[in-house]
Amino acid sequence: HAKRNPECKFVFYEDGMRERTGFTLGLESDLRRAAVTGDEFELHFQPKVEMEHGSRRVIGAEALIRWRHPVRGLVSPAEFIPLAEETGLIWEIGAWTLRDACRRLSGWIASGLEIASVSVNLSPRQFQDARLVNFVRDVVESTGVPPERLELELTEGAMIGDIEKAVTILHGLKDIGVRLSIDDFGTGYSSLAYLKRFPINTLKIDRSFVRDIVQSATDPAIVGTIVNLADSLGFDTIAEGVETEEQAEMLRRQRCTRIQGFLISRPLDVDAFERFVAESNVEREVPTN
Ligand code: C2E
Ligand code: MG
Ligand code: MG
Ligand code: MG
Repeated sequence: HAKRNPECKFVFYEDGMRERTGFTLGLESDLRRAAVTGDEFELHFQPKVEMEHGSRRVIGAEALIRWRHPVRGLVSPAEFIPLAEETGLIWEIGAWTLRDACRRLSGWIASGLEIASVSVNLSPRQFQDARLVNFVRDVVESTGVPPERLELELTEGAMIGDIEKAVTILHGLKDIGVRLSIDDFGTGYSSLAYLKRFPINTLKIDRSFVRDIVQSATDPAIVGTIVNLADSLGFDTIAEGVETEEQAEMLRRQRCTRIQGFLISRPLDVDAFERFVAESNVEREVPTN
């Protein structure tokens, strides 16, 4: 518990304590209400592209949750996902996210929108929840999406601790046929011994290696090393947080040809995303030679 000294403006917290201000407390009860109905959440979608001979082909999109709070306005996931993890509300919120993402994908497939795959983020507590594998299978079956068109993004942090258990869960997900990706790769502690045992498809190179790739003496080599490692292990790579053409060019030189970031597009609401994909498809139909 916080030790409050009335004489003092500062509040001290014991190790591991998270600050519980009035702001967070109010947020928690609001989040509990929102998690029950799901009505205040929406998914935005950020395109992922493949760079090939000067053109860019949309290969998929990442679903990113947004919370439209009736009073506070848009609350960022960076703010409420950690709170949802702590309070256990992440299960309900994650369930809403996966269902909504799969319903959207299924609708796009039905309407002929050319979107190969949709990825959904799973936070550590969702990954470790004993209900996860069955839940993912149920959602895939009930929405009818081809499982290989759904990708789950996990961080290295979700898999530390009990590695045997993590490998078992990963195989359970793999058996459904969904694709698996390690998000923010390079910032955690995956050892190579574990990485080779993970039945995953993609390493998503963290934004921190992309940010300074143009000026840095070391970051191009780090990216190149991740790409080589992925090649050796049979994984794909994609870089997140790409904001400039110069960064995209440096990534391409390191043989990382899949990118996601503000350079291509910010995360878009459903209408804007559908327009974005439709327009990039029209562009692709124009002969380029
Ligand atoms: P993430 O999965 O690593 O997602 C990437 C974040 O970087 C997103 O922030 C995205 O909007 C932002 N971003 C994309 N391109 C750029 C760029 O070029 N430059 C910069 N500076 N940022 C860029 P967002 O949407 O605020 O999400 C933050 C984090 O919240 C995500 O990180 C993910 O860990 C978590 N999150 C988002 N949606 C969900 C969800 O549905 N479930 C769970 N469990 N976590 C989620
Ligand atoms: Mg992600
Ligand atoms: Mg990421
Ligand atoms: Mg990141």
